[in-house]
Amino acid sequence: MTNDPPAPQPAAPPSIQQMPERALPKRRTRPRPVPAPAPDGQPRMWELMPTTANRQCDSSAWRHLNPVVLVRPDWKRCHSPRHIAQCLLIFAALDFGGVVALGIFAEVVLAIGDVGSRFAATTIDPSWLVWTLLLLVYAPLGEEAMCRWPIAQRPRAFLLLPGVYIAVAGITGFPDAAQYLGAGILLDAVAIAVGLGLHLLSGRVRVLAAIDQRVDRWLLRWPAVPVWLMISCFALAHLARYEIDWSVTAILVIPVVVLPWLWFGALASIVRIRFGWWSAVMLHAAVNLVVLLIDVVFGLLALL
Ligand SMILES: [Zn+2]
Repeated sequence: MTNDPPAPQPAAPPSIQQMPERALPKRRTRPRPVPAPAPDGQPRMWELMPTTANRQCDSSAWRHLNPVVLVRPDWKRCHSPRHIAQCLLIFAALDFGGVVALGIFAEVVLAIGDVGSRFAATTIDPSWLVWTLLLLVYAPLGEEAMCRWPIAQRPRAFLLLPGVYIAVAGITGFPDAAQYLGAGILLDAVAIAVGLGLHLLSGRVRVLAAIDQRVDRWLLRWPAVPVWLMISCFALAHLARYEIDWSVTAILVIPVVVLPWLWFGALASIVRIRFGWWSAVMLHAAVNLVVLLIDVVFGLLALL
């Protein structure tokens, strides 16, 4: 006969009377409208290299080009390096071709009547180094951080703010990176810091948590809204290259003027949803590299 202590009994569940009426929100927990993605499902943004298991993709690369994700984002990520490389190549070609074709179309529309006089190009003449940094560093990293990073399975209400900021800046002619360089980039950085700060604080400040939760719940119901909001903001931000003489005509023509960037943003958003944020950055950099190389060729021809 042993004298073992009795096995600890599992604690009885609290009775109904013991349960508080409503669990008070703890100060440091952030309400999560949807559970975080499974650790083996979606690697975090900073994980550039997926694990071997994640590199398998049973879909075909062609299926990843389907634009339906822009209407019904399904967040099915493909981590197959072969698919990513193939699709980025196809997307870059489509992207560049579309931007050129739609840019020509926009110029033709602007040439009609007095429409063009309402969009005076704001000319900048940066040095080659600054132009290279703008095209290959600022645009892919900055613009994609503001307009593609907030597109995610779990909505990020406050992270949409920097994208909205650059759209407002583009429309109002507020200092923009392409014209004012340092000042514009600094203001973009402030906008990103404010959005990110509010996003991080929403886990601690109750008012922000309430706003975040309410907007997130709405965004979960309409997942295509943040996608198209950011595509529109990205396009409107590029109005910075024009000084607009506002009129009804100007407002009606704006959708045509920004068509190339609507196209660019739509393709980059498909890539962001399918292949992740870094792939969208690479697509942006690849298209801008082609633009830069063409500029270099024309620059050299002008010297002859
Ligand atoms: Zn795939």
